[in-house]
Amino acid sequence: MDQVVDQGAAPSEKPRTPRTRRVQPLYAAHEWVYSRKVSGIFRQVKWAALVVLLGLYYVGPWLRWDRGEGAPDQALLIDLPARRAYFFGIEIWPQEVYYLTGLLVIGAIGLFLITSLAGRVWCGFLCPQTVWTDLFLWFEQKIEGDRVERIRLDQQPMSLSKAGKKILKHGSWLIVALATGGAWILYFNDAYTVLPDIFAGQASMPVYIFLALFTGTTYLLAGWAREQVCIYMCPWPRFQSAMFDEHSLIVTYENWRGEPRGRAKVGESFDGRGHCVDCNMCYQVCPTGVDIRKDQQLACIGCALCVDACNSVMDRFKLPRGLITYDSIANQTAREKGEPTQFRPVRARTIAYALILAVTVAIMGYGLLTRDRVEINVLHDRAPLFVALSDGGVRNGFTYKILNMERQPKTFTLRLSGLDGATLRVVGFAPEWTTEARLPVKPDSVGTFRVLVRSDREALSGASTAFAFQLEEEVSGQVHEYNAAFSGPAQ
Ligand code: SF4
Ligand code: SF4
Repeated sequence: MDQVVDQGAAPSEKPRTPRTRRVQPLYAAHEWVYSRKVSGIFRQVKWAALVVLLGLYYVGPWLRWDRGEGAPDQALLIDLPARRAYFFGIEIWPQEVYYLTGLLVIGAIGLFLITSLAGRVWCGFLCPQTVWTDLFLWFEQKIEGDRVERIRLDQQPMSLSKAGKKILKHGSWLIVALATGGAWILYFNDAYTVLPDIFAGQASMPVYIFLALFTGTTYLLAGWAREQVCIYMCPWPRFQSAMFDEHSLIVTYENWRGEPRGRAKVGESFDGRGHCVDCNMCYQVCPTGVDIRKDQQLACIGCALCVDACNSVMDRFKLPRGLITYDSIANQTAREKGEPTQFRPVRARTIAYALILAVTVAIMGYGLLTRDRVEINVLHDRAPLFVALSDGGVRNGFTYKILNMERQPKTFTLRLSGLDGATLRVVGFAPEWTTEARLPVKPDSVGTFRVLVRSDREALSGASTAFAFQLEEEVSGQVHEYNAAFSGPAQ
């Protein structure tokens, strides 16, 4: 069961000395975090990020992109039955999955760069877990009230009014989960078809199963697990500190200025004491239950809401803002010494990340622009490896596959090279021995051909002779070469 903790005061830092040796539990009890509403610049930035990101997420599946007849016209689509991924004009086939890997690599390096510049921006402002949790919290605060009301409500025995609020809250969470996590399904189906089908009860069973799965996981992760995901489940906080240096922007408490802390009244003198009035506002607004005054902690997602909270307290006491600040350690140290501060975005590590990012993007871009839309696969007959012909020649059989990844039909001319005097036959297309054969392939499909190759024994150099199939595209003149081996009797 969740343990309700009043966040009015930060937990005592004084360790207790146990009198008897006790076995420590492996897991700490879950302490429910009742974060308080806060207003300020970072809160506004977080709302703006939420609106923009959710807006893009919702608009995405409805965008259209004309790919020609017979092709899906959804701009962003992962078509699992057809094993294709579409991103506007880019179409990724299963064998090109390395482009998706490249995209992930670009995302990861971009994240390294942003983190080394501005700290946990991803965690605090952009991560879907953060965005959806913010939305869930907004509904919770609207229905159950701010921090104090929520704590009181949870401590009350069950009543009609409490049950009504809980039902309303969880109902709204489920609707938000369906509309956010559940909307993910639109990226895997034609949005204009699947949405009416879902409401009409005519969508396929997998659609309903995944809709339930995405909705359920969003409800659990954003409604119940919340900061537990960031603290215990996500691997990113574990290694992101490797991207920080003293010039990275992070949320910090200016210890030198805040201590010794103590309660104070508006108008009192702050001579001989720190500026922290120990109001615990920074702790109460924190969505992960962190007291930032205890130095940097893994649980701090860098959302900077404590900066907003503390700034409002500083304003009330007519003290300078920035006791909790979104700044670098270097600047904090400089301020302590009374030296000028500066933001240094250009540093060895940021240059390195930017260069790696630029090179990866360039390689990916070049690869995408120059990628081959024809793929060839050749399979040599295994039994028999070769046939000795009555005219003294040797014949090999091959299964020749041409993958046409474009949306128009193509005709190719197949030739042989590297095998003097060799001829070929293609079942159904070139019945007589010839030096070249025309092979048509339908759009967006694989053409499979049975190819027989004949060679004089004198042209062979043993049990295996290297040669190549040359395939020329009729319209573009582009030649694709496939290296193969011709089997014959050992000499
Ligand atoms: S909000 Fe500011 S003044 Fe209040 S406890 Fe936190 S650091 Fe101290
Ligand atoms: S300590 Fe401050 S920045 Fe860190 S998670 Fe809490 S509110 Fe956000």
